[in-house]
Formats: sequence, structure tokens, C-alpha cells
Amino acid sequence: MIKKSLFLAAIISQLTISCSSDDHSETTEQPLNEEMYLCSFDLRNQIPDVHAQNNKTAKSGSTIESWTGWKTGQTIRIKFLDGDVTDHDIVKRIAVEWTKYANLKFEFVPATENADIRIAIIQGAGAWSYMGKYTNTPQQQKLPTMRLGQVSKSFNEEAARRTILHEFGHALGLYHEMKNPTSTIAWNRAKAYKYFDQYSQEEVDRQIIEKTDINRTNYSKYDPLSIMHYYIPSSITLDGIGVTAQNDLSEIDKRFIEKQYPRDLKLSLYPGERLDRNNKLSSPNDNYSLFVEVNKLKLYNYKDCKQEGEFLANIKFNNFTSTKEYLEIIGNKLLLYKGSVPRTLFEHPNPLFKIDYITLSDSGKINLISQGILQSSIEMPK
Ligand SMILES: [Zn+2]
Repeated sequence: MIKKSLFLAAIISQLTISCSSDDHSETTEQPLNEEMYLCSFDLRNQIPDVHAQNNKTAKSGSTIESWTGWKTGQTIRIKFLDGDVTDHDIVKRIAVEWTKYANLKFEFVPATENADIRIAIIQGAGAWSYMGKYTNTPQQQKLPTMRLGQVSKSFNEEAARRTILHEFGHALGLYHEMKNPTSTIAWNRAKAYKYFDQYSQEEVDRQIIEKTDINRTNYSKYDPLSIMHYYIPSSITLDGIGVTAQNDLSEIDKRFIEKQYPRDLKLSLYPGERLDRNNKLSSPNDNYSLFVEVNKLKLYNYKDCKQEGEFLANIKFNNFTSTKEYLEIIGNKLLLYKGSVPRTLFEHPNPLFKIDYITLSDSGKINLISQGILQSSIEMPK
């Protein structure tokens, strides 16, 4: 039995997301290019304990910003210290995926300008990143805050995604998922030290095995699918359960980073508006959100950290992933579009009836309001 969770570095006295659902997880082993995947020197930017003490009574929403240094909604300036345009383009294309979910913007600037994140492609060894914002004084401008390696060399999309998304996760404040306070990895320490023998035992303990103090982290349920998790072969655990390598942001990665760098809540959808890939509808208690992803309208439960329902779009005539989905109210109907092809989710029998707006209830149902009255409530299919 594996408990799932994910956590983000922050100094908080209250845990805003804390899930405890149980899950069974089977893993299979797969080969991995370790050099591309392991971070050699993560977590250099640990904050001193005195800082944590000073923030004991602060609320989570603001302390996470003060810890990581990034303010929700801000533009983070990023530059490359070396590497060529091919490397740069790969990094830009993949890294920006975090900003689909986090309310942050990435601006890539020339190497001559000041930047918050400074990426070394060639100099140094391994892949690593500081956590959160690091000093960006003029003297620091030639020193990297992240190293990625030459991603264009014998290019492999999966390996590049694994490294780039992982290191940018650290830059946004995420710890290694293995260190989640609720992780249940049954380490065989002797074998783990041997497996990670390019590092000292102290480094393996600190960066991979030891769980993070719950008073200094904000976390949700342990998530073996997180991009922040290392590949763990079953041969270095006592119970024979390993963790496969990940190349993408997991569902929990996406929803968790959304919570840490939130956009303003959208509580209603009106005729003439669309719920598309750029926004989402939230319940007033913020426990649920409704949003579109490829071919689907999805309902996510933040409290239990899981998807709770979905409607499939009508993809019979149009199943290209690039064709956009959106939810729209038209007269007496609530329609889920895939390109120009709608699927009717609700239709009032009277064609003259007008839906004024929809909301998402605190229990995750889609409420249809007309003339100030709740006319119907739709429960999403599981
Ligand atoms: Zn790492």
C-alpha cells in the first residue's frame, strides 16, 4: 500500500493541502539515463532555521512566496550563460509548461541582461538547480543557478523533458518527491548507497532518503508519478516496490503548483464566455475546479488530490489533439466543444429557456442558474 503525496518547500505552520487516500501502485523497471536525470547539487538554497522560526505564525499563502522568493503573477527573468540556440529552444519550449499551471511568467532575456534564473548548459557537471529565487546581484550574473547539460546532444525528447521539467520544478520551490513526509518507500539503505555511489552517504540521505520536516514544507499526498521523483529500482527497496521514471508533470504536480501560485478564482461562466485551456471554474470553497484538457472536461478534487469526474468531448469527427476544447452556454444548452463539434451536456426542453450562468458547487456539481434560480445540477460522471 502506498500513500500518495507531493510537497513544496515553504515555511508554514499550517498545511493547506493534506491528502490521505490510499492507493495501490505497481511499478516496472525501465532503463534510465542517470546522468541526465540525477540532480547533483540540489537544495543548496536551504533557508536557515531562524528564518523558519520568524515565520511560524504566517499564513501559508504568503510564506511560500517569501520562501521561494517568487511572487504569484510575477515575471521570472531567465537567461542562458552558454549553449547554442538549439539547446535554448528546447529548454524554452519545455520549461514553459509549468506556467500553464503556475501563475508565473517566464521571460528569456539575452545573456548580457540581469536574470533571476541563469542556466549553464555546458559548464559544470550533472543537472541541478537552486530552489526558489537566488541572489541576482550584478556580481552573481555570470554564475549559474541551474545546470541542464547539453540537451540537444543525441537529443531524446523524454530525457530532455525529464531533466528540464524536474530542474524547473526545483526552481519553483519543489523538493524531491521521495522526501515527501508521507512517502512510504522502504529503502534498503545499504543498496541505495551503492546504487547512488557517485554521491556520499550524507548526500544520499539529505537529498534522496530523509523526509522533509512537516513544519517546513507544504505538501500533498505522496505521488510516485511526480516529475520530482527519481527513478527507484525495486532492487534497492526492502519490499521490492520501485518507482518508474517520469517524463511529464503528473496530475498532482499540475494541481499542486496551481495552488501554490494561484490565479484569481473564476466562480461563474456566462454566455459569451468560454471555459478553455486558459482558465478554470472554481467552487467557492476552492475544493473543486472544472477545466478542459485534451478531449475532456474534467472535475478535480483538491482536498483528496484526485480527478473526480469527466465528460468526453465529441471526438468522432475531430480527434486532433491540437483542436481546442471549450465549454460554452448557448441559450438553453450547455455545450462542450471540440473545435466546431459540440457535445450537449445539458438541454432545457423549452427552446426559449435561457441559462444565465453556471457555477461549480462546493460539492463539485455544475449548477445551472436562470432568473436567479438554480434550475438544474449536473453531477459529473466518474
Ligand atoms: Zn532534483
